[in-house]
Amino acid sequence: ATPTSIMVGTGRAAELGVLFRQGDALQSLHGVRTVALDKTGTLTQGRPELTDMQTANGFDAAEVLRLVASVEASSEHPIAQAIVRKAEADGLAPAAPENFDAITGYGVIATVDGRQVLVGADRLMTREGIDLGDLAPTAAAFGTQGKTPLFAAIDGRLAAVIAVADPIKPGTPQAIAALHDLGLKVAMITGDNRATAEAIARELGIDTVRAEVLPDGKVDVIARLKEGGVRVAFVGDGINDAPALASADVGIAIGTGTDVAIEAADVVLMSGDLRGVVNALHVSKATMRNIR
Ligand code: ADP
Ligand code: MG
Repeated sequence: ATPTSIMVGTGRAAELGVLFRQGDALQSLHGVRTVALDKTGTLTQGRPELTDMQTANGFDAAEVLRLVASVEASSEHPIAQAIVRKAEADGLAPAAPENFDAITGYGVIATVDGRQVLVGADRLMTREGIDLGDLAPTAAAFGTQGKTPLFAAIDGRLAAVIAVADPIKPGTPQAIAALHDLGLKVAMITGDNRATAEAIARELGIDTVRAEVLPDGKVDVIARLKEGGVRVAFVGDGINDAPALASADVGIAIGTGTDVAIEAADVVLMSGDLRGVVNALHVSKATMRNIR
């Protein structure tokens, strides 16, 4: 493309709230065949709410929630914030945790009031040798509903399963439909539970799902999607999306996301609305048409 056509395209995109940090992204976007998207904070609002909680026999729900929220108060994960908000709403006063540890992609551990408290995904429980027992079917049901199931264990015993739900952003269904109309394949990459991710993907008509991906695994997923010379755009918002944004043919960051993601991206959507991706593709097409 000529410098002039790139300038015109970049200006047109900016009017639509799409910032091209790299002028040549207008060209590379043109050849994209697959759009991969992060789930949490990209397809969804990234602000989950605690919706359900079921305790194991012998555990008091308010006490479990108080202990769990005491640990989560030290975590910055959106799931942690959902749990803390619910405990606050229920008027539960958190205690100060000791020996707090966050295990990325798994969950958190700390000692609260002398009790060891674990909160996280099923794989955290497996790692710590805690059996999911009677609560496994409940967790599976939450997943089918598109909710994320989390487990809490106290002193080595499974205490509760908690569900959090993260609403899909209003513009997302329309954006996915428009990507399909453009003949593109749509993939989802997430650290979340497989059943949860699949339920959300089904609801949105997403073609490919890669779930339970550990934070540094997103790059590998992008590499796989690129196999055979397929050009891939990746859309993400989080700190752990930065390497994938950099390794995709076109990295698209959500402007309301983290600075690290924005720095790693070629394109930034000023609002969180995914229809910005579609606008970017349209401008790219128009630019490339004009220069031929
Ligand atoms: P994502 O941002 O895509 O959800 P993460 O790698 O941050 O991926 O988290 C993966 C999973 O690890 C979460 O879905 C959750 O099950 C578990 N997890 C991570 N951090 C926490 C936390 N602070 N509290 C509870 N669970 C957590
Ligand atoms: Mg995210």
